[in-house]
Amino acid sequence: MREVEALTKLPDFKGYITDVGGPSANFSHPSCKKQLKYGMCPDRRCLAPEPCPNLDADHSEYLALLRRLRTIPGVKKVFVRSGIRYDYMLEDKSDAFFRELVEYHISGQLKVAPEHCIDSVLDYMGKPHIGVYEKFMFVVDPRKEHNAIAEARKLHIPIVAIVDTNCDPDEVDYVIPANDDAIRAIRLISATMANAVQEGRQGMDAEPAGETASAAEAEKVEGTADAE
Ligand code: SF4
Repeated sequence: MREVEALTKLPDFKGYITDVGGPSANFSHPSCKKQLKYGMCPDRRCLAPEPCPNLDADHSEYLALLRRLRTIPGVKKVFVRSGIRYDYMLEDKSDAFFRELVEYHISGQLKVAPEHCIDSVLDYMGKPHIGVYEKFMFVVDPRKEHNAIAEARKLHIPIVAIVDTNCDPDEVDYVIPANDDAIRAIRLISATMANAVQEGRQGMDAEPAGETASAAEAEKVEGTADAE
């Protein structure tokens, strides 16, 4: 907070904070009560190969910091540009961080860092297997994101993408026809995707009423996006 307040007093400051916390900043909360008392486990990792049952995934402190930074006079926009720990984020029972990240802190693209795609290498790195990344592939503009598309194809990752009239829908497995230049459309669709991830995490046995609501919401988003 003090650093940003000092920045706002600089004559060249334009109101934009380009990054908060650096890589993995969303995983700054202590992993569990045991870690607070005894330190990190020497013989196992918190998230790999599977999340530890003791892990307390919680973004509330980081989220509180982001909220406070947004309110500092002179700050127009606060970005999170370093890669986030999506594996950690998927373990958080609350979707508040993901929602606000999408709504306030990215410019249309969210950086994630899978680091490698071979499970045995990821084991050495202490990172979860690539399947966790595969659950998290959402492209806003396939024309600009051709590298991501090519990589996903190589790894057989299904691609969900917002496809504008200037994009090739054949490159994408699940097309969302919408305006990929309109930030309002992207926000709405990203929020719907976040909801879908959240619902998926809560289990396959979601109540039928929930499914109906999601379908109605998706239709509403598509209609709004088309109108952009
Ligand atoms: S591995 Fe489990 S018990 Fe050990 S620090 Fe991480 S969350 Fe806590």
